[in-house]
Parts: sequence; structure tokens; C-alpha cells
Amino acid sequence: MAGKCTDYIKDLNDYIDGELDDSLCAEIEKHIGKCENCRIMVDTLRQTVSLCREGKKEKLPATLEIKLSNLLKKKWDEKFGKKGV
Ligand SMILES: [Zn+2]
Repeated sequence: MAGKCTDYIKDLNDYIDGELDDSLCAEIEKHIGKCENCRIMVDTLRQTVSLCREGKKEKLPATLEIKLSNLLKKKWDEKFGKKGV
């Protein structure tokens, strides 16, 4: 099952938390291996998560997911024009 970047965004939180299925985990790692956007996304998310955890022990707010999603779409638009994603 191969998905678009936006399909992975919702799983990246769990991936970083280590709460994802092994098979999904492997799939995301495979995708990240060839997708620079998602690699940047994971790095950014990881940093944000560790910052969050230093402050308070809470899950990332849903708004952050939306922000990341928009950021990724913007990057795609910049790279491939408005028809991407
Ligand atoms: Zn991607």
C-alpha cells in the first residue's frame, strides 16, 4: 500500500511516539527514505515533540497536525505547482 505524503502525516505522530504497527512503521520509513519533504516533516515534528515534552506531558494538539499538513502542501505547491497532492 503506497500512499501520498498527506496520507502519512496523520501517522507521523504515532510513528515518532513509537506507537505505530511494525508494518506501518516500516512503510513510513521506506517512504521517508525517498521523500525529502516527509523527512523534513519528521525532523520538525520530532523537535516539536521534544520541546512539547520538556514543557508538559501532553499529546500534540490537533492544530499542529493541521499546521504541518498545510506546511507540507505549501512545500508541494512550491515544488510542483498547484496541482500537486
Ligand atoms: Zn512524502
